[in-house]
Amino acid sequence: MDMQDLIDANNRLEGAPPQAILAWAWENLAPDVAATSSFQTQSLPLLHMIAATTPDLPVYFLDTGFHFPETLAFRDELMARFGVRVITLQPLMGHSGFKRQHGELYRTNPDLCCHLNKVEPWQQVKQGLRGWISGIRRDQTEQRRDTPILTRQSNGQIKVCPLATWGEADVWRYIHRHDLPVHPLLSQGYLSIGCAPCTRPVTAGEDSRAGRWAGTAKTECGLHLEPPTSS
Ligand code: SF4
Repeated sequence: MDMQDLIDANNRLEGAPPQAILAWAWENLAPDVAATSSFQTQSLPLLHMIAATTPDLPVYFLDTGFHFPETLAFRDELMARFGVRVITLQPLMGHSGFKRQHGELYRTNPDLCCHLNKVEPWQQVKQGLRGWISGIRRDQTEQRRDTPILTRQSNGQIKVCPLATWGEADVWRYIHRHDLPVHPLLSQGYLSIGCAPCTRPVTAGEDSRAGRWAGTAKTECGLHLEPPTSS
């Protein structure tokens, strides 16, 4: 796909339903395409759509070793309920190797901790793919504000964001319409949830991601920070 094809496809898909974008990704990139998911409440619509639209699409979960046990249980519940193909990744040195070598690295260097636990294992898988499907949305963070539906990555891969144009209200509408389960810690104020040491619940009126790396300038783990290429 050359740059003009990508621009044309982006224009065509900008107002399309997420299911149609998923179907486009499968049609154009399978079998070398995969999704990532953090298995939180915000992840539900995409996982549910994958199960219904592209059930053979593998979904990668980055197990950092620092997740809440409730997140791991929720992942298992959704795997069983939706039947999605989930593949769990660990840091290249394994959980015990990471803890032995780096301990509580999230306290001193969270960017490196995210890199070793999330970015590096995903980069290794990504090398073999033509397409990556992610559930990120433009309304989530400043860095995600201009997220296109389709982006060419530096390795030539196409990143596909079927929910880029959705807002939080769309997520909730979808969850209610399909009567989907929510993350067990949602009722305790975890509107967005990542690793346990780096997530706190939010209070009324706070942004849903305000509890992620709270008190620091960090807002992203690094997976989604690669700038798009121009060719
Ligand atoms: S979110 Fe926190 S604990 Fe998880 S990988 Fe990043 S810095 Fe480490």
